[in-house]
Amino acid sequence: MDLDLASPPQPLRFAADEGGLPPRELGRYDGAAPGPTLVAVGALHGNEPAGPAAIRAVLARLERERLPLAGRFLGFVGNRRALAAGMRYLGRDLNRHWSQESLRAVLAGGRSASPEDRELAELADAFVPWLAAASAPVVFVDLHSTSAAGAPFVCMADVLRNRPIAFALPVPVLLGIEEAIDGSMMGYLAELGHVAIAVEGGQHDDPETARRLEAALWLALVGAGSLAPEALPDLAEQAERLARAAAGLPEVLEVRHRHPVHPADDFRMRPGFANFAPVARGAPLADDARGEIRAPESGRLLMPLYQRQGEDGFFLARPVAPFWLRLSARLRRWRAERWLAALPGVARDPGDPDRLIVDPRIARFQAVNLFHLLGYRRVRDRGGRLLFSRRRPGFRGLEPLPPELGPRTSGESDEG
Ligand SMILES: [Zn+2]
Repeated sequence: MDLDLASPPQPLRFAADEGGLPPRELGRYDGAAPGPTLVAVGALHGNEPAGPAAIRAVLARLERERLPLAGRFLGFVGNRRALAAGMRYLGRDLNRHWSQESLRAVLAGGRSASPEDRELAELADAFVPWLAAASAPVVFVDLHSTSAAGAPFVCMADVLRNRPIAFALPVPVLLGIEEAIDGSMMGYLAELGHVAIAVEGGQHDDPETARRLEAALWLALVGAGSLAPEALPDLAEQAERLARAAAGLPEVLEVRHRHPVHPADDFRMRPGFANFAPVARGAPLADDARGEIRAPESGRLLMPLYQRQGEDGFFLARPVAPFWLRLSARLRRWRAERWLAALPGVARDPGDPDRLIVDPRIARFQAVNLFHLLGYRRVRDRGGRLLFSRRRPGFRGLEPLPPELGPRTSGESDEG
Protein backbone atom coordinates (compact mmCIF):
# COMPACT_ATOMS: atom_id res chain seq x y z
CA MET A 1 0.00 0.00 0.00
CA ASP A 2 1.35 3.37 -0.94
CA LEU A 3 0.63 5.60 2.01
CA ASP A 4 1.59 8.72 0.10
CA LEU A 5 -1.77 8.46 -1.60
CA ALA A 6 -3.75 8.91 1.59
CA SER A 7 -5.01 12.28 0.47
CA PRO A 8 -6.38 12.26 -3.06
CA PRO A 9 -3.67 13.21 -5.53
CA GLN A 10 -4.54 14.98 -8.74
CA PRO A 11 -3.95 14.27 -11.41
CA LEU A 12 -3.54 10.66 -10.47
CA ARG A 13 -0.31 8.91 -11.35
CA PHE A 14 -0.06 5.17 -10.99
CA ALA A 15 2.91 2.98 -10.48
CA ALA A 16 2.52 1.03 -13.68
CA ASP A 17 2.78 -2.74 -13.62
CA GLU A 18 4.88 -4.81 -16.02
CA GLY A 19 2.60 -4.01 -18.93
CA GLY A 20 2.96 -0.26 -18.41
CA LEU A 21 -0.61 -0.16 -17.14
CA PRO A 22 -2.16 0.71 -13.79
CA PRO A 23 -2.89 -2.40 -11.70
CA ARG A 24 -6.28 -4.10 -12.06
CA GLU A 25 -6.60 -4.59 -8.31
CA LEU A 26 -5.83 -1.47 -6.32
CA GLY A 27 -5.84 -3.35 -3.05
CA ARG A 28 -7.95 -5.18 -0.53
CA TYR A 29 -8.57 -4.91 3.17
CA ASP A 30 -9.88 -7.83 5.19
CA GLY A 31 -11.71 -7.24 8.43
CA ALA A 32 -11.43 -9.63 11.37
CA ALA A 33 -15.19 -9.95 11.69
CA PRO A 34 -17.47 -11.50 9.09
CA GLY A 35 -19.49 -9.10 6.97
CA PRO A 36 -20.30 -7.99 3.45
CA THR A 37 -17.89 -7.82 0.55
CA LEU A 38 -17.81 -4.29 -0.82
CA VAL A 39 -16.19 -3.88 -4.22
CA ALA A 40 -15.32 -0.39 -5.45
CA VAL A 41 -14.58 0.17 -9.12
CA GLY A 42 -12.98 3.35 -10.43
CA ALA A 43 -12.20 4.55 -13.95
CA LEU A 44 -14.57 2.28 -15.81
CA HIS A 45 -14.19 5.34 -17.99
CA GLY A 46 -10.47 5.98 -18.41
CA ASN A 47 -10.71 9.78 -18.27
CA GLU A 48 -12.18 9.60 -14.75
CA PRO A 49 -9.14 9.19 -12.45
CA ALA A 50 -10.91 10.50 -9.33
CA GLY A 51 -12.47 7.07 -8.68
CA PRO A 52 -9.17 5.17 -8.34
CA ALA A 53 -7.80 8.07 -6.27
CA ALA A 54 -10.72 7.77 -3.86
CA ILE A 55 -10.34 3.98 -3.62
CA ARG A 56 -6.63 4.31 -2.85
CA ALA A 57 -7.35 6.91 -0.19
CA VAL A 58 -9.84 4.59 1.51
CA LEU A 59 -7.51 1.58 1.33
CA ALA A 60 -4.61 3.63 2.71
CA ARG A 61 -6.65 4.88 5.64
CA LEU A 62 -8.12 1.46 6.45
CA GLU A 63 -4.54 0.14 6.65
CA ARG A 64 -3.05 3.11 8.45
CA GLU A 65 -5.70 3.28 11.15
CA ARG A 66 -6.37 -0.47 11.20
CA LEU A 67 -10.10 0.32 11.11
CA PRO A 68 -12.32 -2.50 12.42
CA LEU A 69 -14.01 -3.62 9.22
CA ALA A 70 -16.62 -6.37 9.06
CA GLY A 71 -16.13 -8.30 5.84
CA ARG A 72 -13.79 -6.97 3.21
CA PHE A 73 -13.19 -4.02 0.95
CA LEU A 74 -11.71 -4.43 -2.53
CA GLY A 75 -10.78 -1.85 -5.11
CA PHE A 76 -10.43 -2.32 -8.85
CA VAL A 77 -9.54 -0.20 -11.84
CA GLY A 78 -12.18 -0.48 -14.56
CA ASN A 79 -10.52 0.44 -17.83
CA ARG A 80 -6.73 0.18 -17.26
CA ARG A 81 -5.74 0.80 -20.86
CA ALA A 82 -7.94 3.85 -21.25
CA LEU A 83 -6.86 5.19 -17.84
CA ALA A 84 -3.24 4.98 -18.94
CA ALA A 85 -4.18 6.91 -22.09
CA GLY A 86 -6.42 9.41 -20.29
CA MET A 87 -9.29 8.56 -22.64
CA ARG A 88 -12.89 7.62 -21.85
CA TYR A 89 -12.28 4.47 -23.88
CA LEU A 90 -9.98 3.24 -26.64
CA GLY A 91 -12.37 1.23 -28.82
CA ARG A 92 -15.78 1.35 -27.18
CA ASP A 93 -17.44 2.34 -23.92
CA LEU A 94 -16.62 -0.24 -21.21
CA ASN A 95 -19.79 0.71 -19.32
CA ARG A 96 -21.90 -0.85 -22.08
CA HIS A 97 -22.16 -4.42 -23.34
CA TRP A 98 -22.38 -5.96 -19.86
CA SER A 99 -24.57 -8.90 -20.74
CA GLN A 100 -24.50 -12.64 -20.65
CA GLU A 101 -23.73 -12.80 -24.34
CA SER A 102 -20.80 -10.36 -24.24
CA LEU A 103 -19.28 -11.90 -21.14
CA ARG A 104 -19.60 -15.38 -22.51
CA ALA A 105 -17.92 -14.27 -25.72
CA VAL A 106 -15.03 -12.36 -24.16
CA LEU A 107 -14.35 -14.91 -21.42
CA ALA A 108 -14.16 -17.62 -24.03
CA GLY A 109 -11.53 -15.45 -25.71
CA GLY A 110 -13.54 -15.49 -28.88
CA ARG A 111 -13.88 -11.76 -29.19
CA SER A 112 -11.21 -9.10 -29.10
CA ALA A 113 -12.44 -6.52 -31.56
CA SER A 114 -11.47 -3.69 -29.22
CA PRO A 115 -9.18 -3.22 -26.20
CA GLU A 116 -12.35 -2.99 -24.12
CA ASP A 117 -13.15 -6.65 -24.83
CA ARG A 118 -9.93 -7.54 -22.98
CA GLU A 119 -10.80 -5.08 -20.22
CA LEU A 120 -14.25 -6.64 -19.89
CA ALA A 121 -12.80 -10.15 -19.74
CA GLU A 122 -10.14 -9.18 -17.18
CA LEU A 123 -12.59 -7.30 -15.02
CA ALA A 124 -15.12 -10.13 -15.08
CA ASP A 125 -12.26 -12.51 -14.21
CA ALA A 126 -11.33 -10.31 -11.25
CA PHE A 127 -14.93 -10.33 -9.99
CA VAL A 128 -15.60 -14.03 -10.48
CA PRO A 129 -13.93 -15.33 -7.27
CA TRP A 130 -15.81 -12.82 -5.12
CA LEU A 131 -19.11 -13.39 -6.87
CA ALA A 132 -18.73 -17.15 -6.76
CA ALA A 133 -17.90 -17.14 -3.05
CA ALA A 134 -20.67 -14.74 -2.07
CA SER A 135 -23.25 -16.09 0.35
CA ALA A 136 -24.99 -12.71 0.33
CA PRO A 137 -25.21 -9.97 -2.29
CA VAL A 138 -21.85 -8.35 -2.99
CA VAL A 139 -22.04 -4.56 -2.73
CA PHE A 140 -20.62 -2.83 -5.81
CA VAL A 141 -19.87 0.88 -5.83
CA ASP A 142 -18.96 2.15 -9.27
CA LEU A 143 -17.24 5.56 -9.14
CA HIS A 144 -17.57 8.09 -11.95
CA SER A 145 -17.13 11.74 -12.80
CA THR A 146 -18.62 13.96 -15.49
CA SER A 147 -17.32 16.37 -18.10
CA ALA A 148 -19.69 19.04 -16.76
CA ALA A 149 -19.41 20.56 -13.31
CA GLY A 150 -22.14 20.13 -10.75
CA ALA A 151 -23.38 18.34 -7.68
CA PRO A 152 -22.64 14.68 -6.95
CA PHE A 153 -25.41 12.10 -7.28
CA VAL A 154 -25.96 8.37 -7.12
CA CYS A 155 -27.54 6.12 -9.77
CA MET A 156 -29.25 2.83 -9.03
CA ALA A 157 -31.64 0.34 -10.51
CA ASP A 158 -34.66 0.60 -8.27
CA VAL A 159 -34.50 -2.75 -6.53
CA LEU A 160 -35.20 -2.60 -2.81
CA ARG A 161 -31.82 -4.06 -1.85
CA ASN A 162 -30.04 -1.12 -3.53
CA ARG A 163 -31.93 1.48 -1.58
CA PRO A 164 -30.18 1.29 1.83
CA ILE A 165 -26.76 1.85 0.25
CA ALA A 166 -27.89 4.51 -2.22
CA PHE A 167 -29.83 6.44 0.40
CA ALA A 168 -26.90 6.26 2.83
CA LEU A 169 -25.39 9.01 0.66
CA PRO A 170 -26.90 12.47 1.24
CA VAL A 171 -27.06 13.25 -2.48
CA PRO A 172 -29.82 12.97 -5.11
CA VAL A 173 -30.66 9.42 -6.21
CA LEU A 174 -31.21 9.05 -9.94
CA LEU A 175 -33.42 6.16 -11.06
CA GLY A 176 -33.71 4.64 -14.49
CA ILE A 177 -30.28 5.31 -15.96
CA GLU A 178 -29.80 1.57 -16.51
CA GLU A 179 -32.97 1.60 -18.60
CA ALA A 180 -31.80 4.55 -20.67
CA ILE A 181 -28.40 3.05 -21.46
CA ASP A 182 -28.02 -0.60 -22.39
CA GLY A 183 -25.51 -2.89 -20.73
CA SER A 184 -24.14 -0.79 -17.87
CA MET A 185 -22.02 -2.73 -15.37
CA MET A 186 -24.22 -1.53 -12.54
CA GLY A 187 -27.40 -2.68 -14.27
CA TYR A 188 -25.90 -6.07 -15.03
CA LEU A 189 -24.64 -6.72 -11.50
CA ALA A 190 -27.98 -5.62 -10.06
CA GLU A 191 -29.72 -8.11 -12.34
CA LEU A 192 -27.47 -10.87 -11.02
CA GLY A 193 -28.93 -10.13 -7.61
CA HIS A 194 -26.10 -8.08 -6.16
CA VAL A 195 -26.23 -4.56 -4.78
CA ALA A 196 -24.88 -2.09 -7.31
CA ILE A 197 -24.83 1.68 -7.28
CA ALA A 198 -22.90 4.20 -9.36
CA VAL A 199 -21.70 7.44 -7.83
CA GLU A 200 -21.04 10.56 -9.90
CA GLY A 201 -18.64 12.74 -7.94
CA GLY A 202 -18.42 15.91 -10.00
CA GLN A 203 -16.20 17.25 -12.75
CA HIS A 204 -13.36 14.97 -13.95
CA ASP A 205 -10.46 17.28 -13.06
CA ASP A 206 -11.86 19.03 -10.00
CA PRO A 207 -9.77 17.90 -6.96
CA GLU A 208 -12.96 18.00 -4.91
CA THR A 209 -14.40 15.16 -7.01
CA ALA A 210 -12.00 12.56 -5.57
CA ARG A 211 -12.76 13.78 -2.04
CA ARG A 212 -16.49 13.45 -2.66
CA LEU A 213 -16.07 9.95 -4.06
CA GLU A 214 -13.95 9.02 -1.04
CA ALA A 215 -16.71 10.36 1.24
CA ALA A 216 -19.23 8.29 -0.74
CA LEU A 217 -17.16 5.14 -0.13
CA TRP A 218 -16.98 5.74 3.63
CA LEU A 219 -20.73 6.29 3.76
CA ALA A 220 -21.34 3.19 1.64
CA LEU A 221 -19.14 1.14 3.99
CA VAL A 222 -21.18 2.36 6.94
CA GLY A 223 -24.46 1.91 5.03
CA ALA A 224 -23.51 -1.67 4.12
CA GLY A 225 -22.71 -2.48 7.74
CA SER A 226 -19.00 -2.97 7.01
CA LEU A 227 -18.03 -0.18 9.38
CA ALA A 228 -19.79 0.85 12.57
CA PRO A 229 -20.52 4.61 12.55
CA GLU A 230 -18.44 5.05 15.71
CA ALA A 231 -15.42 3.49 13.98
CA LEU A 232 -15.20 6.57 11.78
CA PRO A 233 -14.81 9.70 13.93
CA ASP A 234 -15.17 12.01 10.92
CA LEU A 235 -18.29 10.34 9.52
CA ALA A 236 -20.32 13.53 9.99
CA GLU A 237 -17.77 15.56 8.04
CA GLN A 238 -17.74 13.01 5.23
CA ALA A 239 -21.54 13.21 5.01
CA GLU A 240 -21.41 17.00 5.23
CA ARG A 241 -19.01 17.17 2.29
CA LEU A 242 -21.60 15.47 0.08
CA ALA A 243 -24.66 17.13 1.60
CA ARG A 244 -23.14 20.58 1.12
CA ALA A 245 -22.42 19.88 -2.53
CA ALA A 246 -25.98 18.67 -3.14
CA ALA A 247 -27.85 21.22 -1.01
CA GLY A 248 -31.27 22.21 -2.30
CA LEU A 249 -31.54 19.44 -4.91
CA PRO A 250 -34.37 16.88 -5.16
CA GLU A 251 -33.83 13.68 -3.17
CA VAL A 252 -34.95 11.36 -5.94
CA LEU A 253 -35.21 11.84 -9.70
CA GLU A 254 -36.02 9.59 -12.60
CA VAL A 255 -34.53 9.69 -16.06
CA ARG A 256 -37.12 10.81 -18.58
CA HIS A 257 -35.06 11.37 -21.69
CA ARG A 258 -31.66 10.50 -23.12
CA HIS A 259 -30.25 12.26 -26.14
CA PRO A 260 -28.20 9.64 -28.03
CA VAL A 261 -25.11 10.81 -29.89
CA HIS A 262 -23.47 9.15 -32.90
CA PRO A 263 -20.01 10.12 -34.10
CA ALA A 264 -21.40 11.54 -37.37
CA ASP A 265 -23.82 13.84 -35.51
CA ASP A 266 -21.26 16.56 -34.82
CA PHE A 267 -22.95 17.03 -31.44
CA ARG A 268 -22.08 20.25 -29.58
CA MET A 269 -23.57 20.94 -26.18
CA ARG A 270 -24.19 24.63 -25.64
CA PRO A 271 -21.82 26.02 -23.01
CA GLY A 272 -22.68 26.78 -19.41
CA PHE A 273 -24.81 23.82 -18.32
CA ALA A 274 -23.98 22.05 -15.05
CA ASN A 275 -25.53 18.86 -13.68
CA PHE A 276 -29.06 19.51 -12.34
CA ALA A 277 -29.51 22.74 -14.30
CA PRO A 278 -33.27 23.30 -14.52
CA VAL A 279 -34.37 23.55 -18.16
CA ALA A 280 -37.74 24.41 -19.65
CA ARG A 281 -39.39 22.50 -22.44
CA GLY A 282 -38.25 23.87 -25.79
CA ALA A 283 -35.06 25.45 -24.42
CA PRO A 284 -32.13 25.12 -26.86
CA LEU A 285 -29.54 22.81 -25.30
CA ALA A 286 -27.20 21.74 -28.06
CA ASP A 287 -26.57 21.72 -31.80
CA ASP A 288 -25.67 19.01 -34.23
CA ALA A 289 -25.45 18.46 -37.98
CA ARG A 290 -29.25 18.58 -38.21
CA GLY A 291 -29.58 21.86 -36.34
CA GLU A 292 -30.70 23.00 -32.93
CA ILE A 293 -31.56 20.46 -30.21
CA ARG A 294 -34.25 21.59 -27.79
CA ALA A 295 -35.40 20.10 -24.51
CA PRO A 296 -38.34 17.78 -25.29
CA GLU A 297 -39.72 18.41 -21.80
CA SER A 298 -38.95 20.42 -18.70
CA GLY A 299 -36.73 18.95 -16.06
CA ARG A 300 -33.23 18.78 -14.67
CA LEU A 301 -30.36 18.44 -17.10
CA LEU A 302 -27.86 15.71 -16.27
CA MET A 303 -24.50 14.73 -17.72
CA PRO A 304 -24.34 17.27 -20.56
CA LEU A 305 -21.51 16.09 -22.81
CA TYR A 306 -18.55 18.46 -22.85
CA GLN A 307 -15.98 15.98 -24.15
CA ARG A 308 -15.34 14.43 -27.50
CA GLN A 309 -16.05 10.81 -26.54
CA GLY A 310 -19.45 9.63 -25.38
CA GLU A 311 -22.73 8.29 -26.68
CA ASP A 312 -25.01 10.32 -24.45
CA GLY A 313 -25.46 14.00 -25.30
CA PHE A 314 -27.46 14.72 -22.16
CA PHE A 315 -30.18 13.32 -19.95
CA LEU A 316 -33.31 14.96 -18.63
CA ALA A 317 -34.68 13.86 -15.28
CA ARG A 318 -37.58 14.92 -13.13
CA PRO A 319 -38.06 14.71 -9.38
CA VAL A 320 -39.98 11.80 -7.86
CA ALA A 321 -41.77 12.42 -4.58
CA PRO A 322 -40.26 10.14 -1.86
CA PHE A 323 -43.84 9.07 -1.14
CA TRP A 324 -43.81 6.99 -4.32
CA LEU A 325 -40.71 5.12 -3.20
CA ARG A 326 -42.29 4.25 0.12
CA LEU A 327 -45.47 3.16 -1.63
CA SER A 328 -43.57 1.02 -4.09
CA ALA A 329 -41.63 -0.69 -1.29
CA ARG A 330 -44.92 -1.58 0.34
CA LEU A 331 -46.50 -2.80 -2.91
CA ARG A 332 -43.50 -5.01 -3.64
CA ARG A 333 -43.54 -6.55 -0.19
CA TRP A 334 -47.20 -7.37 -0.75
CA ARG A 335 -46.16 -8.82 -4.11
CA ALA A 336 -48.82 -6.71 -5.81
CA GLU A 337 -47.13 -7.43 -9.14
CA ARG A 338 -48.92 -10.81 -9.14
CA TRP A 339 -52.03 -8.95 -10.28
CA LEU A 340 -50.44 -7.08 -13.16
CA ALA A 341 -51.04 -9.81 -15.72
CA ALA A 342 -54.74 -9.64 -14.93
CA LEU A 343 -54.96 -6.10 -16.28
CA PRO A 344 -56.41 -5.60 -19.77
CA GLY A 345 -53.72 -5.40 -22.43
CA VAL A 346 -51.09 -7.07 -20.22
CA ALA A 347 -49.92 -10.63 -20.84
CA ARG A 348 -47.18 -12.75 -19.35
CA ASP A 349 -44.45 -13.68 -21.82
CA PRO A 350 -44.92 -17.43 -22.40
CA GLY A 351 -41.13 -17.83 -22.63
CA ASP A 352 -40.24 -15.90 -19.47
CA PRO A 353 -42.50 -15.68 -16.42
CA ASP A 354 -40.63 -12.56 -15.22
CA ARG A 355 -41.54 -10.69 -18.36
CA LEU A 356 -44.78 -8.94 -19.24
CA ILE A 357 -45.92 -7.80 -22.65
CA VAL A 358 -48.03 -4.67 -22.67
CA ASP A 359 -50.21 -3.42 -25.49
CA PRO A 360 -50.17 0.36 -24.97
CA ARG A 361 -53.37 0.76 -27.01
CA ILE A 362 -55.32 -1.33 -24.51
CA ALA A 363 -53.42 -0.71 -21.29
CA ARG A 364 -54.43 2.92 -21.09
CA PHE A 365 -53.00 3.61 -17.68
CA GLN A 366 -49.60 5.13 -17.10
CA ALA A 367 -48.01 1.80 -17.88
CA VAL A 368 -44.37 2.76 -17.40
CA ASN A 369 -44.94 4.42 -14.04
CA LEU A 370 -47.05 1.59 -12.69
CA PHE A 371 -44.54 -1.04 -13.75
CA HIS A 372 -41.65 0.91 -12.25
CA LEU A 373 -43.57 1.14 -9.01
CA LEU A 374 -43.83 -2.63 -8.90
CA GLY A 375 -40.19 -3.31 -9.64
CA TYR A 376 -40.30 -3.88 -13.38
CA ARG A 377 -37.81 -2.48 -15.82
CA ARG A 378 -38.75 -1.47 -19.34
CA VAL A 379 -36.64 -3.64 -21.61
CA ARG A 380 -37.49 -2.68 -25.13
CA ASP A 381 -40.39 -2.19 -27.41
CA ARG A 382 -41.41 -4.97 -29.74
CA GLY A 383 -43.87 -4.51 -32.56
CA GLY A 384 -45.56 -1.51 -30.95
CA ARG A 385 -45.81 -3.31 -27.62
CA LEU A 386 -43.90 -2.56 -24.46
CA LEU A 387 -41.82 -5.24 -22.76
CA PHE A 388 -41.25 -5.12 -19.02
CA SER A 389 -38.94 -7.42 -17.14
CA ARG A 390 -39.12 -8.02 -13.42
CA ARG A 391 -35.89 -7.27 -11.65
CA ARG A 392 -35.00 -10.11 -9.35
CA PRO A 393 -31.98 -11.81 -7.94
CA GLY A 394 -30.88 -15.13 -9.29
CA PHE A 395 -32.23 -14.32 -12.73
CA ARG A 396 -32.91 -17.62 -14.38
CA GLY A 397 -31.17 -18.58 -17.54
CA LEU A 398 -28.07 -16.45 -17.07
CA GLU A 399 -25.56 -19.02 -18.24
CA PRO A 400 -22.74 -19.81 -17.92
CA LEU A 401 -21.77 -17.12 -15.37
CA PRO A 402 -24.83 -17.07 -13.16
CA PRO A 403 -26.63 -18.47 -11.33
CA GLU A 404 -23.40 -19.36 -9.55
CA LEU A 405 -22.33 -15.72 -9.62
CA GLY A 406 -25.53 -14.47 -8.07
CA PRO A 407 -25.70 -14.44 -4.29
CA ARG A 408 -26.64 -17.81 -2.83
CA THR A 409 -29.66 -16.62 -0.97
CA SER A 410 -32.63 -18.88 -0.58
CA GLY A 411 -36.10 -18.54 -1.97
CA GLU A 412 -37.98 -15.42 -2.93
CA SER A 413 -36.38 -12.11 -2.16
CA ASP A 414 -37.71 -8.84 -0.92
CA GLU A 415 -37.77 -7.96 -4.53
CA GLY A 416 -37.97 -5.24 -6.47
ZN1 LIG B 1 -18.14 7.54 -16.19
